[in-house]
Amino acid sequence: MGYTNHSRDIRTFDLEELQELVKELGQPAFRAKQLFEWLHVKNVCSFDEMTNLPAALREKLAEEFPFNTPVELVRQVSKDGSRKYLLQFSDGVSVETVGMPNRNKLAVCISTQAGCGMGCAFCATGFAGLTRSLTAQEMVDQVLHVARDFGERVTSVVFMGQGEPFANFDATVQALRILNDPQGLAIGARHLTVSTSGVIPGIRRFAELPEQFTLAISLHSAIQSTRNQLMPGVKKYTLLRLHEAIQDYVEKTGRRPTYEYAMIEGVNDTNPEMEALVDFCAGTLCHVNLIQLNDVSTSILKPSPIEKVESLQKRLTMHGVETTIRSSRGSDIDAACGQLKQRQSASSK
Ligand code: SF4
Repeated sequence: MGYTNHSRDIRTFDLEELQELVKELGQPAFRAKQLFEWLHVKNVCSFDEMTNLPAALREKLAEEFPFNTPVELVRQVSKDGSRKYLLQFSDGVSVETVGMPNRNKLAVCISTQAGCGMGCAFCATGFAGLTRSLTAQEMVDQVLHVARDFGERVTSVVFMGQGEPFANFDATVQALRILNDPQGLAIGARHLTVSTSGVIPGIRRFAELPEQFTLAISLHSAIQSTRNQLMPGVKKYTLLRLHEAIQDYVEKTGRRPTYEYAMIEGVNDTNPEMEALVDFCAGTLCHVNLIQLNDVSTSILKPSPIEKVESLQKRLTMHGVETTIRSSRGSDIDAACGQLKQRQSASSK
């Protein structure tokens, strides 16, 4: 079947497919490379910008192929320089994306699903449930949007926005590979991090990938009953089994997983909680990221005081566990996952 006369987004074509396409259009072979560069390196979103292509070819392509780039519904800029976006895809579904500049680096946090079915108690997205999973291209589009907005190269991507990446495993891996492609954005595998709420089959499949992508696990409590309440969607993947799956992952890949631990006052910052976390981590290869929960006025869950966060860091470090206190970027904007979208839908009601 030919490539022309259907409405597939041109940006989903890889180099080989573009070669087929230019052949079909009776164009010289080098046009494929030019097209690839415009699409995947220069990151343009219209054929008009492809100035080294003949006008007639640009016109022909524009007739046949859409650019389904997302539309920016909202853009918030924080005092710390981070920018949060609400991006809408062609079917009207929208997701949140965050760009976080730091010196000469630019990190992007992307969503893998619109909404989420995991129902975490501390997450605004969890309340609304799952709308649909995103395609790989829609994940990549979020990165490209931020790159365009900052006018800079993206140096790392965390799959940590809305959605559970391992509930959308294949598209997530496809997006990782597109972002990692040396002919495209060429973001190093170690700078591509997937964060799961602890979906064990996903962790096991992730361990089989040949690339050195980074794994993060949202842990938030090492006590089963607390974790069940905070993260009901992963109740069936018990801490015991999770620990085992992560140790297998470490053995297989030799890579250091990260545990995300959002500290919530009176919930997971008590003495027994801290002890349980130390037990869970001590003697294993891991890195712990402690973060004060974002303060959302409508939530009964409040951030732990910074002294508690520091004391947990001290305890973990004393037991040889590498621990960082991560600053909450964009705390003056709706940076907590799902907040921006919630606010937008409330205001449009
Ligand atoms: S924290 Fe992540 S996994 Fe949990 S409900 Fe929110 S988006 Fe889903």
